[in-house]
Amino acid sequence: MAVIITDTCICCGACIDECPVEAIVDEDDNPTGEEIYFVYEDKCVECVGHNDEPACAIACPTEGCIVWSEVASEPPHTDRKPGEPCISF
Ligand code: SF4
Ligand code: SF4
Repeated sequence: MAVIITDTCICCGACIDECPVEAIVDEDDNPTGEEIYFVYEDKCVECVGHNDEPACAIACPTEGCIVWSEVASEPPHTDRKPGEPCISF
């Protein structure tokens, strides 16, 4: 459970101070060596318990730059109502 910063990152720095758990590092500290910001998967909590939505993704001005690792096409919190099945047949 974590967000991923893709190579469309323009290193604007808007996300880094938004993270409540300091999971984001800038391009100088990116362990992959890429010239983009990086999210430590083991630190990111997808803002659960801190914000309604991932604060970094809200702050990021670059569309599609911050994605979710699990189901990238969907937000991490579904609107599924209690009792509703996860899978429909
Ligand atoms: S989703 Fe939240 S916890 Fe994860 S990197 Fe972004 S701001 Fe930090
Ligand atoms: S806000 Fe988006 S574009 Fe800016 S540094 Fe963070 S991930 Fe990169």
